[in-house]
Amino acid sequence: MAAEGLEVLLETEEIDAIVDRVAGEISERYDDGVVLVAVLRGSVPFLADLVRAMSIRSVVDFVAITPYTPGTGRVRFLMDITTDLTDRDVLVVEDIVDTGLTSAFLLGELSRRQPESLSICTFVDRPARRVVPVDLDHVGIQIPDEFVIGYGLDHKGRYRNVRVLATADTAVLERDPDAYVQELYGA
Ligand code: 5GP
Repeated sequence: MAAEGLEVLLETEEIDAIVDRVAGEISERYDDGVVLVAVLRGSVPFLADLVRAMSIRSVVDFVAITPYTPGTGRVRFLMDITTDLTDRDVLVVEDIVDTGLTSAFLLGELSRRQPESLSICTFVDRPARRVVPVDLDHVGIQIPDEFVIGYGLDHKGRYRNVRVLATADTAVLERDPDAYVQELYGA
């Protein structure tokens, strides 16, 4: 029986097809390689699949930033890249662009490092809750206003390594963070 509020949006094969399409777009776009700046931790599965599906040279680096919490009004680096971005083509790789605050913060910070170009690639785009407008150059899938888990996206640390993307009911998860463990991990 399906768990309450859980619905698979993308099966693994559909994720693979999307990654191949986005990797193709990126490989065609950059003649001279690209620096991928991935946002920890959610983008790791997407990044790993994407970079291996790309046919051009690439450098991978990582940032970690504080989650935006309403009221604090600020996002800041917990960990910065070590790669020099001067005159390089740079692509930020995100799991999901929701409010756009993460993307806007990173575009602001990284643009000061004189890259040749600076763009954003995200696996999921959810425009419904956008607070800051951001241009997304490469998008895997656009979704309606629903919370999603799997393929890097977690709830309280769970479900990141699930190989599908699924919508989940946050009220159900708040009551029981393990509510979807049996359905998604078969345990
Ligand atoms: P932003 O609001 O800055 O665009 O996104 C911030 C972060 O919130 C994302 O990178 C992601 O980690 C998390 N997030 C936003 N929406 C969702 C969602 O639907 N599911 C999960 N698991 N995380 C989300």
